[in-house]
Amino acid sequence: MKKLIFLGPPGAGKGTQAEILADFYQIPHISTGDMLRQAIAQKTPLGQKAQMYVEKGELVPDDLILDLIKERLNRPDSQKGWILDGFPRNVSQASFLEDLLNQLDRAADRVINLEVPDRVLIERMLGRGRKDDNEETISRRLEIYRERTAPVIDFYRKRNMLEPINGNLSLEEVTASLKAAIEN
Ligand code: AMP
Repeated sequence: MKKLIFLGPPGAGKGTQAEILADFYQIPHISTGDMLRQAIAQKTPLGQKAQMYVEKGELVPDDLILDLIKERLNRPDSQKGWILDGFPRNVSQASFLEDLLNQLDRAADRVINLEVPDRVLIERMLGRGRKDDNEETISRRLEIYRERTAPVIDFYRKRNMLEPINGNLSLEEVTASLKAAIEN
């Protein structure tokens, strides 16, 4: 059973790699960003509350995200493993997740940190054409990443769970080094 957390700045390729590996290991790819975009498109109550934050590149408040992730990890398909992409995004989410997984007796096995230089991140995001990928929102997302999400790296480093991976290589090379890190 593989229980993997993917960290890394926006544009690092987390989503793309998580998708490939989830397919390879036949486990769900759980992306809070995808879940929020879907809720926004469907105009659900969650979507309506989250929309403004996502469009500005701000973090959606924890109270909207924590129930969402708890419900998702309790679904039957999550019992055989998962890849978390875009969660946890701050230290309070990381400690919520740690408690939740301890209760379920299912601690994560690996926390992958995909490392990519800023210059490359900005190029990649501008090339993606997502609605929140304009220059202003991109710089806000990078700023939020540094302030709120980068401390999550230390949270896992202290627990000896962190696996840094160079994300500034070709897609295939990154997939290969992820598989090697997950399997060793
Ligand atoms: P992503 O697809 O992971 O880049 O997420 C897109 C946007 O969704 C982010 O810029 C945030 O506004 C929001 N978001 C995604 N995951 C989270 C999270 N775990 N906590 C708060 N906001 C989130």
